[in-house]
Amino acid sequence: MFGKGLATGLKITLKRMLQPNITEFYPDVKADLPKTVRSSMGLEPEKCISCNLCAMACPNKVIELTSEKDENNKKVLKTYNMDVGRCLFCGLCTEACPTKALKVTQEYENAVYHPEHMQWDMIKRAKEVSRKEEKE
Ligand code: SF4
Ligand code: SF4
Repeated sequence: MFGKGLATGLKITLKRMLQPNITEFYPDVKADLPKTVRSSMGLEPEKCISCNLCAMACPNKVIELTSEKDENNKKVLKTYNMDVGRCLFCGLCTEACPTKALKVTQEYENAVYHPEHMQWDMIKRAKEVSRKEEKE
């Protein structure tokens, strides 16, 4: 029938016009994400005991860390890096962590121009997060 497509299109338009507005005003207003979203990783370095269990649990070899011994022969975290471009956000590393120092988070503004910027220095990132939280 002539004009059937136009009528269907107008019907859909009219129906949407009468429904509530679902436009999100990102970036002015941050998205309200479902609880199940996993999009980033966060480390609390002061909780980390350098046991390496997270690195051993990771199926993609994303995590590399180094430590040194202090005067009491206790391990102290020195570097903690993640090749996050290979991370699945599966959370196996967080399940293995005995001190809950490592978490899967919902931070999603992680876009970068260069692949090398997906090598995350987690200690540096943790400092940036706490600085940001202090400002807020
Ligand atoms: S979330 Fe999964 S893939 Fe990512 S670092 Fe942890 S264990 Fe590895
Ligand atoms: S498993 Fe947890 S405590 Fe152990 S090295 Fe990884 S982040 Fe640190």
